[in-house]
Amino acid sequence: MLTTHPFDDDHLREECGVFGIFGHPEAAALVALGLHALQHRGQEAAGIVSYDGSHFHNHRGLGHVEDIFGNEAVMRRLKGLQAVGHVRYSTTGETLLRNVQPLFAEMEFGGLALGHNGNLTNALGLRRQLVRRGCLFQSTTDTEVIIHLIAISLYSTVEDRLIDALRQIEGAYSLVVQTKDAVIGVRDPLGIRPLVLGRLDGAWCLASETCALDIIGAEFVRDVEPGEILVLSEAGLRSIKPFAPQARRFCIFEHIYFARPDSIVEGASVYAVRKRIGAELARESRVEADVVVPVPDSGVPAALGFAAEAGIPFELGIIRNHYVGRTFIQPTDHTRHTGVKMKHNANRAMLEGKRVILVDDSIVRGTTSRKIVEMVRQAGAREVHMRISSPPTTHSCYFGIDTPEREKLLAARYDVAGMAKLIGADSLAFVSLDGLYRAVGETNRDPHQPQFCDACFTGDYPVLPSDQMEGGGDPKQLSLLTEGSV
Ligand code: AMP
Repeated sequence: MLTTHPFDDDHLREECGVFGIFGHPEAAALVALGLHALQHRGQEAAGIVSYDGSHFHNHRGLGHVEDIFGNEAVMRRLKGLQAVGHVRYSTTGETLLRNVQPLFAEMEFGGLALGHNGNLTNALGLRRQLVRRGCLFQSTTDTEVIIHLIAISLYSTVEDRLIDALRQIEGAYSLVVQTKDAVIGVRDPLGIRPLVLGRLDGAWCLASETCALDIIGAEFVRDVEPGEILVLSEAGLRSIKPFAPQARRFCIFEHIYFARPDSIVEGASVYAVRKRIGAELARESRVEADVVVPVPDSGVPAALGFAAEAGIPFELGIIRNHYVGRTFIQPTDHTRHTGVKMKHNANRAMLEGKRVILVDDSIVRGTTSRKIVEMVRQAGAREVHMRISSPPTTHSCYFGIDTPEREKLLAARYDVAGMAKLIGADSLAFVSLDGLYRAVGETNRDPHQPQFCDACFTGDYPVLPSDQMEGGGDPKQLSLLTEGSV
């Protein structure tokens, strides 16, 4: 029997990256490079599926792209002019190989590979119905629901079956799908996660971010539009829009933290947006100080914007060791603490005797800020003022950014003064939601019609996360799976 939450023995809320290409003799090698550029979106596992005109070839593994695909024998096997790939990030439990994407299935019409960035919010309910109808699930990902919905659809063409499946799912999804005839890109009707179209040597490609086009020298053509299906095939490029248009709700956290600063997302340079957020923050919460110090790497552009606006020197007062993973990846509080120490070190020469403004992009549990503030004080800073380039993270994300349960979010439990005390800072300030909207280019934020998904700061979810609402009350992050699972 199914237990209540069958997806979560691994992790439901993956942050991921996808890449696909059609019509290039080096398809798989280009996908591997694209995935390497998207490594920040997923560091635990990666996979590529190619098709050579008669067979699909599949290679998936745990670890970094370089470790999995930096192997000639593996790459030689991934033959064909078309391929799709995926990088995956999960933060709790083990990452099982059977969950590594692209998922692949043999269907009535032939093979189908699918890579997903985002998170479906009604997958649990759909999965229960599908299991009752006899579908045999191979993985514990929400993504597999899409595969089964395509498989059982009564429509005849692949595209119609895909549309039929998409009409039943809710939440965030940017997909790359591959059949023997096409590579297909899909973006959910709200456009929550990014997906872009590129062109290289006459071939079309799809990527989560433009930095993955840059690495292969592809030209950025345009964003895939919210609710758009793009079919890349021998016949060229075809766009299908099967949904009624909706107001877009792109994830504002992509701008703040998640996307790479050298990417252009939704028409804006991520780096420039982050600098503008820093400038807004400086205007909103000015404080006398000697140096502005970023928490590297994610705090760097905002700190540059802050320093320029405030007229205070920018210094690298904290040095990051690049050979350890993101702090967030550590599953227990103890290891997370050790992780922070392994990752950052104070640059005493830049801090001693100084009044320091520390800039970071977000406070989630508060672990990083507390450690960093302590470290900076131990290095002799006279005052430590923390400035955060996002509003307080008060709500969990159910749309593909990993955040812990609400109770673990510092801002859900304390006000700003309480948080300042807990992290040990002389002062603490967050950019306002209006300031953030100005920085992303929206001069007039309309709280009744938000132009972004900003639910992590407001609790205003673009669609009700129905799986997480089960049992009533506030939405919950699904808990770890116990026994009896699929
Ligand atoms: P915490 O230590 O729990 O307060 O986490 C805050 C730090 O984690 C910040 O320095 C962010 O750069 C980083 N961060 C925020 N959100 C995420 C996320 N979803 N995944 C990984 N790192 C994150």
